[in-house]
Amino acid sequence: MRTALIAAAALLAASPAFADTLIDNVRGVQVDAGGKIERFTGILVGDDGKVKHVLHGEKFKLPAGTNVVDGGGRVMLPGLIDAHGHVMGLGFGALQLDLTGTTSLADLQGRLKAYAAANPGGGWILGRGWNQENWADKSFPTAADLDSAVSDRPVWLGRVDGHASVANSAAMKAAGVTAATKAPAGGEIIDGLFVDNAEGLVTKFIPAPTPAQYDAALAKAQEMMLANGLTSAADMGTSAEDWAAMNRAGAAGTLTARILSYAGGIPAMKAINGGRPSGWLYADRLRLAGVKLYADGALGSRGAWLKAPYRDKPDTRGLRFLTDAELASQANEAASGGYQLAIHAIGDAANAQVIGAYEALNQKHKGDRRWRIEHLQVADPADLERLKPAGIIASMQPTHQTSDRTMAEARLDPPRLKGAYAWRTIEKLGVRLAFGSDFPVESSNPFPGLSAAVSRQDPKGQPPGGWRPEEKVGFATALNGFTRGAAYAGFAESRIGSLEPGKWADFILVDRDVSAVDPQALAATKVLETWVAGKKVFSAPAMPAR
Ligand SMILES: [Zn+2]
Repeated sequence: MRTALIAAAALLAASPAFADTLIDNVRGVQVDAGGKIERFTGILVGDDGKVKHVLHGEKFKLPAGTNVVDGGGRVMLPGLIDAHGHVMGLGFGALQLDLTGTTSLADLQGRLKAYAAANPGGGWILGRGWNQENWADKSFPTAADLDSAVSDRPVWLGRVDGHASVANSAAMKAAGVTAATKAPAGGEIIDGLFVDNAEGLVTKFIPAPTPAQYDAALAKAQEMMLANGLTSAADMGTSAEDWAAMNRAGAAGTLTARILSYAGGIPAMKAINGGRPSGWLYADRLRLAGVKLYADGALGSRGAWLKAPYRDKPDTRGLRFLTDAELASQANEAASGGYQLAIHAIGDAANAQVIGAYEALNQKHKGDRRWRIEHLQVADPADLERLKPAGIIASMQPTHQTSDRTMAEARLDPPRLKGAYAWRTIEKLGVRLAFGSDFPVESSNPFPGLSAAVSRQDPKGQPPGGWRPEEKVGFATALNGFTRGAAYAGFAESRIGSLEPGKWADFILVDRDVSAVDPQALAATKVLETWVAGKKVFSAPAMPAR
């Protein structure tokens, strides 16, 4: 009580109070500096958009003129942070024609026609998500099928798995494909359907997006992030064009969410911001923090680089992207330039290689470097012990585990599953966790990720009891991964990740007490409002969360 009185007195003395805003009567839930759940009842926000005070039930006399917002007893969380997403990929994907769930060829044609009408202008129409296996007549769509819906501009529609696309005649004409064109090795062309390696015959003719299209994609991505309760995200693999779009938005005042940018490889690193990390720009909306590198591919396509052969394909151990010397050279170049490193490693061999590279960097680059491994999906348990001594952050995506589990069981024998998606083991080793979704690979909605983290179950509750349930983490750890942990992983913990005096008033109001519901209800949490820097930027149901 005494501290509350002192705080109130300090507020009275210090603030030109008329511009402050009190949001009270909320059931606040966040993680404290010690990693425990902290409950609070309101926040006082200054006119600079930063938190001045966090209330824990105390009452004090407000300075005259303070704006008061009644939270109506709703649940407040700090704005969630996705530690690994692809911002422009999210926006571009959402602007394409969405063909998921089509029930027939006629349904596909109808959606195509409607999309063409809604997006006039004659440019290419790109779409994705059809699956003819779900149609009564299971035959593949053809160029003629598309022509009968849209024939006056190129159309290119990808199958749900990304391994085949169908073109209309205008697209084939633009690509110079004729009846005489032969498919390359590992590909096939059947009546306008381009399979695997044949897709490149057309995709190389799809024009690069214009700056205006980049701007539209960034706006769309931010709209989706804010609707899903994400006030910040790390962008893993920013290109020079992406960076330019983010800066245009920053200068125009339309960068609403915060983006922690990681240049997509050494060439992008050199092309962005004059080849130097940026400071915080546009009131902490944007910062070029580091460089993203890749050590291997993905598990689903057997591109993850393993120490021993794949269980379901014994002639391969996956794809090693870089020699040790190449990785060391690239990592050293980035580290010497003052960049943070975020390296994609999925297989156990790739993770061992990256840990080794970081151990070597530590000999030369001292100080607070916060080396990151992105995904860290399958690791040799012996290598996990090397993470903390090397100062490595584990940037992991809980929904990858729930999406991948049956595939992972096919690819890996049980002993190797021990170090797969091993969140609790990693936590117990004292390693810092940052959680994300890898959107748009997974949904940008963080609540299924929070749910997966605590349950090892998908949003339908499968499998019962959770997959390898010994790797579940507690709710505080899960929320920490999407708030403080993700902020720390981006050198942003003094600005975002929790509601504390001096940090930005980035917060969300949700429809349930996420700390007290079962995992399926947690996954289904709805965001009611999203605020960034003390300003409301999303209010449901302006846009359905997805
Ligand atoms: Zn990614």
